[in-house]
Order: sequence, then structure tokens, then C-alpha cells
Amino acid sequence: MAEAEKTVVSNFIRNIIDADLAAGKYAARTWSGQPGPAARQKVGAGGTAISLDVAKIRTRFPPEPNGYLHFGHAKSICLNFGLARDYAGACHLRFDDTNPKKEEQEYVDAIVDSVHWLGFAWGDNQYFASDYFGWMYAFAEKLIEAGHAYVDSQSAEAMRANRGTLTEPGQDSPHRYRTPDENLALFRSMRAGEFPDGAHVLRAKIDMAAGNINLRDPAIYRIRHATHHATGDTWCIYPMYTYAHPIEDALENITHSICTLEFADQRPFYDWLLARLAELGCVNTPLPQQIEFARLNLTYVVLSKRKLIQLVDEGHVAGWDDPRLPTLVGARRRGYTAEGFRRFAEMIGVSKSDSLIDMSVLEGCMRDHLGETAPRRVAVLDPLRLVIDNYPAGQEEECLAPNHPQKPEWGKRAVPFSGELWIEREDFMETPSKGYFRLFPGNSVRLRHGYVVKCIGADRDAAGNVVAVHCEVMADSKSGTPGADNYKVKGNIHWVSAKHAHAAEVRLYDRLFAVPAPGAGERDFLADINPRSMTVITAQIEPALKEAKAEDRFQFERHGYFVADRVDSRPDAPVFNRTVTLKDSWTARKD
Ligand code: ATP
Ligand code: MG
Repeated sequence: MAEAEKTVVSNFIRNIIDADLAAGKYAARTWSGQPGPAARQKVGAGGTAISLDVAKIRTRFPPEPNGYLHFGHAKSICLNFGLARDYAGACHLRFDDTNPKKEEQEYVDAIVDSVHWLGFAWGDNQYFASDYFGWMYAFAEKLIEAGHAYVDSQSAEAMRANRGTLTEPGQDSPHRYRTPDENLALFRSMRAGEFPDGAHVLRAKIDMAAGNINLRDPAIYRIRHATHHATGDTWCIYPMYTYAHPIEDALENITHSICTLEFADQRPFYDWLLARLAELGCVNTPLPQQIEFARLNLTYVVLSKRKLIQLVDEGHVAGWDDPRLPTLVGARRRGYTAEGFRRFAEMIGVSKSDSLIDMSVLEGCMRDHLGETAPRRVAVLDPLRLVIDNYPAGQEEECLAPNHPQKPEWGKRAVPFSGELWIEREDFMETPSKGYFRLFPGNSVRLRHGYVVKCIGADRDAAGNVVAVHCEVMADSKSGTPGADNYKVKGNIHWVSAKHAHAAEVRLYDRLFAVPAPGAGERDFLADINPRSMTVITAQIEPALKEAKAEDRFQFERHGYFVADRVDSRPDAPVFNRTVTLKDSWTARKD
């Protein structure tokens, strides 16, 4: 489907946005910032102002920089950036680096790269949660002063025991009734580094009997003497994610905070916290609204960061950008296209209930897009020599092959023809099976875009392997010449001229896992790795392919879509990766 014809399919999130805009919700935004109009400033390093257009929607994609982005993230990116694009709003890229860690730059860079690659931009709207640590701390003091938070000094075990269960209410902590002054003094001492890890936590004071356990006085700050990659040793207390995230959203004037379903139980706390902070004049209204959608689950892959890290660390794949991994850097190397991901996201849509999408749907999106955009070329992947006995020795000529069968405007290219060619080994059978129309003694086929040849025999080596096929050419059968149509043959095979062809490394990638649900039940997911997920071969390629530049994509006729590897391919020495085969060979399989 061409870009221009695309129609926007509505969904429950669009419906919410449409209703909010119709009600003029953001036109009524107030500026009650305390301290200062919070959302007007990006706190910390850059100090650039957050550009504000109050009537517009604002979404965010908030990755934790602790891994590479995967196909699931692509769904969230296309959703959030896609909404901002369609509603002429903005989408922020925000790194959720609330957890202190030292080295994250590699992940930050890779995430920036991948979101750009998917085709999205965010201008100045790139933020780090750690930029807001100062605000989060200040807001915590305000909550304490207002009696909405207290320092608890119970042991972790006591806290867990007092939290209650799904069926029983929790028990108040003996420290729940400390005065605001006591709490403030203790919290400041926590910040000053006077206590070891775990000695105290700051908790929101809500309701220990709440039906939703997340509202039973959740921890909002904890002591951690750890160095943070951005803030160094400035802090020894760190906000909990559930406290930090709503504040980040509010400070950035996010309107629709879209997350996956597992956060639904956190929404009441998200709303409680922001309502209190709005009362205290800390954040602007209207407040951001959390909306949950079902995460992407795909067959034949694992999308858990832990498992992806294990695959890389234990050497089951060659690195984060291994073309078999469901990471965006891997997909790019594999030859998947950004447009293919965007179409996929559009096609699967968003919903409120979990579902499992078949890998063939994603592959189909890639195949369709590549079918429209990849020039056709010829490569022989399993070469067998074909000798045309009646073709004059030393002669050569050109045949014309279209660059795309449905796009005559892309023109034709000349491919050299001679008396010795490479054909696919499977295009010859000494004794043909039923329904086999390709080369066998006595049978004629068309050499695609060239001549009709008739098979007259084959050579074998001492071990009995076929090493060459002999044919005779029909001199008046050349494609595109008068009379070529007089020959009616059922087989049509591809070829390259042996003298003009180049040998090139081709990596035939297949699915990394051999079963739809790797590691289902009690099984170790590693046991489900497909032993044939990569085969490296030497192919014979047509001259036009020799000049392929990194990331050039082609259809190798009759085989599938291939890309010149962006890491290992060199001018004059291209290396190709198989992106996807021409036809889906998995759906029919019974695993
Ligand atoms: P972890 O559980 O290790 O934090 P994560 O997958 O949640 O991993 P994040 O970096 O926190 O990783 O995710 C960034 C954003 O991507 C989040 O908003 C999250 O909801 C979204 N996301 C992650 N996985 C998927 C998925 N499978 N489908 C859709 N969205 C996803
Ligand atoms: Mg997460």
C-alpha cells in the first residue's frame, strides 16, 4: 500500500485522544508550577526549555537504557511517535535511568540510533529521568510536610509481612505516625548519607487496608549508596520507578502516558500521587493520563531483556546486532526495513487484551515492502556448471533483464551470457521426479531473460557426483527477439555467466528458534534454538551485484530478499544476508 493511500485505523487510544481534544482539555492547561512553572524547564545539564504548545497532545517513549531495543519496543515507538505525528503533537524520548548504574552510554546511543532508524524524530525533546532528581526530591519534602509521606524504619521483612495479602489488609507501621518535622529531619539525614542502605525508606501515606496492594503505603525513596552514570555520587537516595515515572510525565506536560497492561494496577497510585502534587502546586494540570495497551508477543522469538542478554553473553548469537536476534539493530542488519515495522505496527493495531502475533505476519510486512522496493538481481546459491556445447567458443553477448517486473520505469540491465554458466544444482535431475519441469536429459527450459536450452547429458566425478550439465542452445530463442515465443517450455531457470560471475559470501538466515513458543512450560528456551538458523555459503553473483553498497537490498530471483551486510560487506567484496525468503515456509510446518 502506497504511503498516500494509507488510512488511519482508529483504536481505543485514538478515541480517548479525540474525546480529550474535542473537550478542549489541553487548551485549559494551567500554570500552577511550584517551585516555578515546572514543566517549562528541563532541569539539569542541557537546561533547554521544553517547547510547549498547550493545546496539543504529548506522548513519550521511555526506555530504560539497560539493553537494546527489540521488536516489542518497535510497537510502542510506532504507537507513541505515530500518535504525535498524526495529531501534530510531540513525542518525547525519555531515558528512564532512575536506577543507579555506571555505564549506560552504549545503550543510550543504540536506542537513539534505532528510534531514528525507525523514522521518528523528537527535536529537543530528549530527556533523562535523572534530570529530574532535584524536583523529585523537592516534591518528596512537600509530600512529607503535607502529611502524605513518612519515613519508615521497619526491616524489609517486617514491611513485607505487614503489607497483608490480596485477601487480608495490611498493618500500619509503628512509624506511620511520625510527625512531619520528624519525617523531614530523617529524610534529610537519609539524603545526607547518614544511614546505610535499607535503614529507612520514604513511603507514601495512603491506606494500609486498600484493596489494591499498590496503594498500601508504597515506598517512594530508598537509600542506595551507588554511583549513577549521570549524577555520579550526588545522591545516595533514589526514587522508586513508580514514584519517578508520573513525575517525569507531569514535568514534561505529557498528555497521554501510554504503557503496557502490567502497569494497570499502578494507575491508582499514579493518579493519587499526581493529584497530591497538583494540590501542592508542584505540577501543572490537566494531569497526564495513563493508558494501558497489550504488549507485543510474537511467535518464534524471545522478547525478554534477560533472555536476550543471555543469548548474547553466552555466545549463542554473534552480538546484539546478530541478524537472527529480535533486536532493532539485528533486524536492520538482517535487512528488515523501518517501513516494514511501521506497517506491521499499523496492521496489528493496539488493544486491551493480550494476544500472540505470528512471526509470519511481521515477515509478510517485510516481504511486501521489499517486493515493492528491492531491485531484482540474480545469484546462484548452490552453483552447478552448465556447458552449452553448441555455443561458439569464446563468444559472449548481453541479455536484458528488467530491474523490477512491475516497474518498467526502473529499466533493464545488461547481463552477460556465454557458453558456460552457473545454474542451481536443484535445477537439474538426472532422473526427474513426477512434475519436475526443469533440466533433465532430453528436456528443454528457458534460461530466464536468455535462451531456450535442451539438456543432452551430464558429467560425473569419480564419486558419481554431477559436476557439469551439458546443453544445446536454440539460437533463435533469445528472449525479446522475434520468434522467441515459438518455444513453449515449462521450466524457467536463473543463471549467471561463469566467466563474468563473482563469488560472494551469502548468509542464509532462518528463524533463531525452531518452535513457536521457545521455552514454553518447563523447557529451557536455549534447547529450542534452531540448529539451522544460519548457513554460510559461497554464491555466484551477477556482475551488477558486485558493486552493492552496505545496506543495499535486492530480490535474488527465485530465492528471496537479501541485503549487503552493513558491517562486513566491502566494495568489490560484498557479503549478503538473507532477509526473508520469497515464500513463507514456516506456516505450513507442523512443529
Ligand atoms: P524491563 O522489563 O527489563 O524494564 P522493558 O521491556 O519494560 O524491559 P523498557 O526499556 O522499560 O523495557 O521499555 C520501554 C517501553 O517499551 C515501555 O514503555 C514498555 O512498555 C515498552 N515495551 C516493552 N516491551 C514491549 C512489548 N513487548 N510490546 C510493546 N511495548 C513494549
Ligand atoms: Mg520496563
